[in-house]
Amino acid sequence: MFEIINYTGGSDALGKFLSRREVLDEAVEKTVKEILSDVKTRGDEAVRDYTEKFDKVRLADFTVSEAELDRAFNETDKSLIDIMEKAAENIFEFHRHELDKSFFYEQPNGVLIGQKITAVEKALLYVPGGQAAYPSSVLMNAIPALVAGVPEIYLTTPCNAKCEVHKHILAAAKILGLKNIYKLGGAQAIGAFAYGTKTLPKVDKITGPGNKYVAMAKRLVFGEVSIDSIAGPSEIAVIADETANPRFVALDLFSQTEHDADASAVLITTSETLAQAVNDEAKSLLPKMERKHNIEAAVQKNSAIVLTQHLDEACAVSNIIAPEHLEVHTASPWELLPKLRNAGAIFLGHYSSEPVGDYFAGPNHTLPTSGTSRFFSALSTKDFLKRSSIISYTKEMLDKTGEQIARFADAEGLEAHAEAVRVRLGSSKFYKP
Ligand code: NAD
Repeated sequence: MFEIINYTGGSDALGKFLSRREVLDEAVEKTVKEILSDVKTRGDEAVRDYTEKFDKVRLADFTVSEAELDRAFNETDKSLIDIMEKAAENIFEFHRHELDKSFFYEQPNGVLIGQKITAVEKALLYVPGGQAAYPSSVLMNAIPALVAGVPEIYLTTPCNAKCEVHKHILAAAKILGLKNIYKLGGAQAIGAFAYGTKTLPKVDKITGPGNKYVAMAKRLVFGEVSIDSIAGPSEIAVIADETANPRFVALDLFSQTEHDADASAVLITTSETLAQAVNDEAKSLLPKMERKHNIEAAVQKNSAIVLTQHLDEACAVSNIIAPEHLEVHTASPWELLPKLRNAGAIFLGHYSSEPVGDYFAGPNHTLPTSGTSRFFSALSTKDFLKRSSIISYTKEMLDKTGEQIARFADAEGLEAHAEAVRVRLGSSKFYKP
């Protein structure tokens, strides 16, 4: 079922697999550029037209009403509300840990230097909703924004052809007290909030996962607004030795491929026996899976089993792939941690299955994909915060260091810089005391 690749060293051995994983393709870029440009020009009408085209509904009003929110919450199973509340507690705890704080320190002569942390004013949280409903993405997007203290939080998610947003998404929003909720999805939603329209605000930051159109739209509006990362179709890599349980591994690989035909799963193992056993498990499980169409397509297009000589080599392969999720199913998983450079989230040990992180443990599940975990990180409170440097100099300190500063400016040929300092020292060539 999975293609088996014998790793022979270097990224060339993975070339075919890596190029197949490419989702930021030219056709998607062309489609999304057209949508964004139309939304920029025609605003709300374009958003309405694309929603009708892709989501099969013509919206008179883009917003979710208070009554819809209340109804969804009341219709959601109480036990699911309890689970979401417990998950929210864990997610709040983790994100409070990573909160940046302003700092100031004193230098001689009364100088104060520091950094002031401020939340972005307006953030749009994208919650995917095309093929499946993701209430977990409501918690994962909104909690870091709430912990960061963003004053205006907007949330958007596609609705169905009956103009309804999935009740679990709204119930999760209600648990967190979110109010500004919209029924828009895809590139048109990203464009609308990046540029602003008559009825939709232009925001400062757009976060959240989505399919390849959403991921491309975020990439293309970057600069107009800030984004968190490219969090596109899901990916998992599993590093395993002979101690791994093939059934655990097969289901974990399926857990990501069931999201999307563009998703990707790769097992990197030192054991040929395990490779064969996982392949056999996958074959026998597939016909029983509800989302077998996505799984089969993703396994064929974007997935593989890679055989390596030893675990160091397995880590090297994983670092080249730079997966969104990385699981380590080995006898001593913590020993590999120092060697793992690129991964959105790392799950250590046979019982740290990926869904534990998706829903419950606390760390964020909005993670970089398509190899971008080389430089992007999980969505965090830091994404909603900006840093302003603070410099408060005194006359005494400027008297002491001003001439050095002015000479540095002279060296760059920037006269006004130098004179702005010298005028305070009483030595400006323009203003003599
Ligand atoms: P989605 O909300 O991302 O996308 C649905 C929207 O796509 C629709 O509203 C529509 O406007 C647009 N669309 C559909 N077909 C189109 C086309 N042919 N041309 C232009 N636009 C089109 O929901 P989804 O489709 O269910 O995808 C969810 C994605 O989120 C999956 O790929 C899943 O793997 C991913 N995901 C990623 C993470 C992460 O952290 N990386 C987490 C959760 C989910």
